[in-house]
Amino acid sequence: MGIEFIPVGGYNEVGRNMAALKIDEEVIILDMGLYMPKIVDFEEEGNNRRTASRDELIAIDAIPNDHVLDSWRDKVKAIVISHCHLDHIGAAPFLAPGYNAPIIGTPYTLEVLKSILKDDQFQLRNPLKQVNPNSSIQVSRNIKVELINMTHSTLQTALIAVHTKYGTILYANDFKFDKNPVLGKPYNIERLHELGKEGKVLATITDSLYSATPGKCPSENVAREMLKDVMLGIENQGDAMIVTTFASNLARIKSILDFSEKLGRKPVILGRSLLRYITAADNINLTDFTKRAEVIGFGQKIKKRLRKIEKEGKDDYIMITTGSQGEPNSVLSKMTSNIFPFNFGKHDHIIFSCKTIPVEPNIANRKKLEDKLRKKSVRIFTDIHTSGHMYREDIHDFIQILKPEMIFPAQSNHEKQLPLLEIASELGYKPGKDVRTIRNGEKVRII
Ligand SMILES: [Zn+2]
Repeated sequence: MGIEFIPVGGYNEVGRNMAALKIDEEVIILDMGLYMPKIVDFEEEGNNRRTASRDELIAIDAIPNDHVLDSWRDKVKAIVISHCHLDHIGAAPFLAPGYNAPIIGTPYTLEVLKSILKDDQFQLRNPLKQVNPNSSIQVSRNIKVELINMTHSTLQTALIAVHTKYGTILYANDFKFDKNPVLGKPYNIERLHELGKEGKVLATITDSLYSATPGKCPSENVAREMLKDVMLGIENQGDAMIVTTFASNLARIKSILDFSEKLGRKPVILGRSLLRYITAADNINLTDFTKRAEVIGFGQKIKKRLRKIEKEGKDDYIMITTGSQGEPNSVLSKMTSNIFPFNFGKHDHIIFSCKTIPVEPNIANRKKLEDKLRKKSVRIFTDIHTSGHMYREDIHDFIQILKPEMIFPAQSNHEKQLPLLEIASELGYKPGKDVRTIRNGEKVRII
């Protein structure tokens, strides 16, 4: 009896997030994510994730090794997904079939999941249960799951509060405190204060990715101003203007569309993952981007559109493309290596509204892409971006508001978890006792 916690994936690396809580004889799973670098390697070797088996993907560390949950498998009551990023949702098609339980998420998160399942021709028997942001669902007689709206770098991100007779566990992975998120609901700080005041938070599983970065994570509105500066504030606005960003960052895409309209240029959005995230948001009326821009997902149509853009005049357009991480299959990479027809010129502007995710394939791919672009003498603007994760002082606030009895760092490996221990110990927690690092596969008793 009591509560046990198993971090399954995302505690030895940044990615493939998954964890499980056992409350008496019932289990709740939190997230099922991919480890993108391993998937990229796997597919670059000519394999296809769609036809790969679960155990094959576990063996290459592309998805969490959920064999550590084998003795809990029959007890699983729900799989709850915090948000639609692939490192939190992307393993669901492979792992969810192993559980006789529904998948719970916000409408946008589930809309993206449906799109992944459709594109990759997967069918899941698990029922999908939508829960609106700032609402709850009774998972069993003894467990209620609440999705608290938070700001991050995509829409409808939730902190997951698992309410039990012993108290509450808060899964607080991937978020930041952003007063000006540009798009989407504000973060529900009132609810966090309430939970803190009730004093029943037994533990928080806490985003520690940028716990070593001093200060406060800047708002999305800061990225919007940076973008405005390079799109509207530069003397020579150039011929082609190409902006690349993370496909799921809809607030950023909104800013690009707003400034395209200010410039009187026509926005054209190119790339399959952009099409996926935009269509999912438009489908449930969170955005109206398909009304504001042409969105083209697939190769032949993209080629045709690019030819037309060159014919009509590149300076009439803003192109928003995939390729922020230099992915070889992205639209920007294909344009650069002549797979897609495009003649770059020295008056063209390429804006990277993103950060390079600091893992090996991304660093190498981005360098390759930038080197090719530089040979074409285009003008390059990089790091027009703010993060979606708490910095040191945000984590400080978070701990002070919630006052959990125990704190576990998440979304990072051992080394990146350590600064969170330092912050917590400044607030009176005892490292190794009520705040401690954790690794994939270990079992921790909470109460
Ligand atoms: Zn995320």
